Parts: sequence; C-alpha cells; structure tokens
Amino acid sequence: MQKFDALIIGSGIGGLECAYILAKRGMRVCVVEKNPALGGCLQSFKRGEDEFDTGFHYVGALGKGEILERLFSYFGLMELPWHQLDREGFDEVFLKDKSYLLSNGHTAFAERLSSYFPDRSNEIKRYSAFLKEVGAKITDPVLKEGNGLSSVNELFSRNAYNFLRESVGEGTALDVISGTSLKLELNRPTLPLYTFAQINNSFVQSAWRLRGRGSMITDTLAKSIEKMGGVIMKGWQAVEIKEDGGVCSFVEVCRLNTNERLFADYIISDLTPQTTLKLLKESGSVRKIFRRRINNLEQTYGFFTLNLRLKKERVPYVNRNRYYYTPELNSVWDVKDESAKGRVCGLLITQQVPNEGEKFATYMDILTPMSYAEVEKWGDSCVGHRGEEYKEFKERKAEECLRLAERIIPHLRESVERCYTSTPLTYRDYIGAPEGTAYGIRKDCNSIEKTLLAPKSPLKNLFFTGQNLNLHGILGTSLTSLLTCSQILGRESVVRFLK
Ligand SMILES: Cc1cc2nc3c(=O)[nH]c(=O)nc-3n(C[C@H](O)[C@H](O)[C@H](O)COP(=O)(O)OP(=O)(O)OC[C@H]3O[C@@H](n4cnc5c(N)ncnc54)[C@H](O)[C@@H]3O)c2cc1C
Repeated sequence: MQKFDALIIGSGIGGLECAYILAKRGMRVCVVEKNPALGGCLQSFKRGEDEFDTGFHYVGALGKGEILERLFSYFGLMELPWHQLDREGFDEVFLKDKSYLLSNGHTAFAERLSSYFPDRSNEIKRYSAFLKEVGAKITDPVLKEGNGLSSVNELFSRNAYNFLRESVGEGTALDVISGTSLKLELNRPTLPLYTFAQINNSFVQSAWRLRGRGSMITDTLAKSIEKMGGVIMKGWQAVEIKEDGGVCSFVEVCRLNTNERLFADYIISDLTPQTTLKLLKESGSVRKIFRRRINNLEQTYGFFTLNLRLKKERVPYVNRNRYYYTPELNSVWDVKDESAKGRVCGLLITQQVPNEGEKFATYMDILTPMSYAEVEKWGDSCVGHRGEEYKEFKERKAEECLRLAERIIPHLRESVERCYTSTPLTYRDYIGAPEGTAYGIRKDCNSIEKTLLAPKSPLKNLFFTGQNLNLHGILGTSLTSLLTCSQILGRESVVRFLK
C-alpha cells in the first residue's frame, strides 16, 4: 500500500506546480500522469528528428518584478533560456491588408496604437491605463479573504466586448486591440472582461518565448519535485477516486493490466472537473445538481495546428507573433462563429527561437481555431486510425492555412520541408481535454456562479486546479496552483513571496 501526504492527478503545469508547492512545504507528494510524457498541454512531441510544442508559444509578464517572473522565480523556472520578443512590436496584427504592431509597456503600447488611430488617442490611453489597473489586482484572488475568487466577481461579470465598444468605440481600433487574442476565445456574448484584460495586460507588460521546447518548463518542475522526495508516476491513469463518508479514501490507478491503490490525505485533480467527476463513480457527497452543473459547462474552441519544419535558410526568424485575419472578415470577434462554419479566417503564426546568432527559422507553427463539430464524425476513432477521409480533410485545411499565411510570408509553401497537422481530436486523445478544447471551460460573464469554479470540491480532501478555474494559460494556471494549495496549507504560508 502506497500512502502519500498529497496525490496529484495529472501532470499539466497546474498539477506539477501544486506538487512543487506542497513538496517544498515538506509534504510527501505523488503525481500520476496517464501519458508517458509529462506536461499535458506543455508536452513536446517528436516526429523523426523534429520536435514541436503542443500548447506553448509565448508568455507575458516575465520581466523583472512582473507577476509571472515572481512566480517562476519561486518555481525555479527563471534559469530556463527565456528570450524576449521585440519590445517595439511583440505582436503584429494583419487586418484588411494593413499591419499593426503592439508594443510593450503601457505608455509605448498606447502611443503606438494612437499613431494608427489619432482620433481615438484619449480612449486608447484610458484603455491602457485600465489594463494596468486591472493587472495590479491579478493576485487578489490568491491574497484576499473568502473563497479567493469573490474579489474578481465584478470584472468577471462584465462583458469584454461591450466594455471595449463603450471605451474605444467600434471599428478597426477595437479589432486591433482584440486582434492578438487567439490566445483566448473571443466569444462576444460570454467573454468576461476579467479574462480579456488580465491576459492582454500580461503581454503588454512583456512577452517571451523559450529558446527550446515548452516541455523544459514541466521537466524542470518534475526534476525539482523528485529532488524534494516527490514521486512521479508516468503512464499511470487514474481510473477511480474512491469516497468514504465525504472524503476520498484512495485513488485507483492503472497501467496496462496492473491496478494499484494510492492513498493520500489530500487529492488534487488537474483534470477537467467533468473528468474528475467521472472518476468519482459512486459518491454520496456529489449531488446530482452539482454533476449536472459541471457536465453542462461548455468548452472553448480547439485548434487546427500545422507544425512546419522549414528548409534551411529560407524563412527569416521574426521576433514577434503574427496574427493574420482574412480581409472578408467583418470583425476579429467573428472568428469563433466563422470557424464553427468550417472557414479559416484567422491565423496565429509563430516561430521557435533559433540558435544564438542564427537569422533563419527552422520551425514554425500555424494555428487556427477549430470547433469540435468539424471533426466530430471521427470522434470514435483513435490516433493513427482515423482513415483516409480524415487525412484528406486535414490536407485541405493545411492547404488553406498555408495559402492564407502566404499573404504575409510569400512562397512559404516552397520553404516547407515537412508538415505535420493536428486537430481538436489529437488534443482530446493526448491530453484528455474534452472536445479537444484549448482553454478549458468557457467562462461566462452572464453566469459567473456556474462557470467560475473554486478549488473546493464536494469532498473534504479533494481539490481542483488547472486552467478550468480562474484564468487559463501558463500565468493563469500558475496563479491557480497557489489558490488550490492555499486551501491545504493556509493562504498566508503559500503567498508570502507574492506580497
Ligand atoms: C494549442 C494551444 C496553444 C496554447 N498556447 C499557449 C501559450 O502560448 N501561452 C500560454 O500561456 N498558454 C497557452 N496555452 C494554454 C496552456 O497550455 C494551458 O492553459 C495549460 O498548459 C493548462 O495546464 P493544466 O495544468 O490546466 O493541465 P493540462 O495541460 O490540461 O494537463 C492535464 C494533464 O492531466 C493528464 N490526465 C488526464 N486524465 C488523466 C487521468 N485519468 N489520469 C492521469 N492523468 C490524466 C493529461 O494527460 C495531462 O497531462 C495553449 C493551449 C493550447 C491547447
């Protein structure tokens, strides 16, 4: 019988950070991960000699004293080879055949945007000041009393699109401000202002890539956990969480034909809440109404991704991300609905940082939102066995993405050595993300009581963590890991370094 102080299910960044925090406080922790590779969305994958990232392209707020830098210093991740994107233009938005750069620093950000839209200069300055103000409150959910999330309720219940329309006015300025936001789902009726403002603010502060793969983040965390005596069980899937009188008594894990029971005082689930509830097969404490509420939550969209290995010295490395939208698109806020109709109308184009001194890119990723409905008919298949029709579907999508990307990178197709593609089904099967969602549950400003989840579960010693709570993304999940661990260790002891 194996007994731990804390058992963490899932080795996404959120799960590993929880394990790190608890191990650092002297607890004996164990992380179980169903895949042979750690990291969930942050895992890298190999195709021959090529290695690509799954769900990591860039992070914000990693400059000295900024929030992610403070968190990553604590987690021992600042030693990694971080590479800052161009401060003059960390992101570039292509709209109706014009291009717009977004600069780092709130003043430079506002000045650059004002140069494109001089008649909106005052509104843009006010918007930038608003971002700064909201950003200063990013630690409130962790630092403040109560369930930790009540302090963000007001911003959470405001609609992001309505706010932008009222503060900067409709039109191109609004679209440029929103145009780097394929890193969140722009859904007009539901997107909370909190999500929009916190994520965008972190990138306005500073923007960074890694010189290397995103899996360096989770591998570094895993090594530190093991050094502190933690156990990491790769290739073990949690198949049941057993309850006894309102507490979890053990978690049953399975590898090939071997089952084991793991006992722990505390269980943290880094899985989606839906998956966690499925594991709680027979529980007297989880009321039907709670199950229904969780199971009815909608998922944000997934991505169709092209991972490109480029020919040698053909495509210059560009130290920024490029967001391209087709000229026919009315507004970037229509991308989600247009994608749901099967159209490719918005691309995120990003490159891996080359070796020091090299001017050309070797690897490039192109992402476009894709709804699960487009691939649902292959939903019963598994990786590598989806058939010819699926292959042809992916080839057509890839072709469309390349055709559009060539509008800003001429002759890209001729520069591609190898091309690999993935759809929401790939993400579903590798990461266990329902419908291959990229950013987890769709938070809804009209329904915060249903969609803003707290770490507490109906069981006394079971807690949730990961991107489905509070904010998604690497910054969001890192903050949430503190919020989750504060339920076990007490707020004061977890967040001392944040003050
Ligand atoms: C395409 C894409 C691009 C992205 N780009 C960025 C970016 O550039 N910057 C950024 O900040 N964020 C980005 N994100 C978001 C970011 O990657 C995620 O928010 C974050 O990594 C989620 O971490 P998590 O801890 O919630 O768990 P996840 O990464 O979802 O991990 C959950 C883990 O649980 C495991 N698991 C599932 N079921 C079981 C089970 N029964 N037993 C054991 N283990 C199980 C899974 O295998 C997985 O390893 C991107 C996401 C995607 C999909």
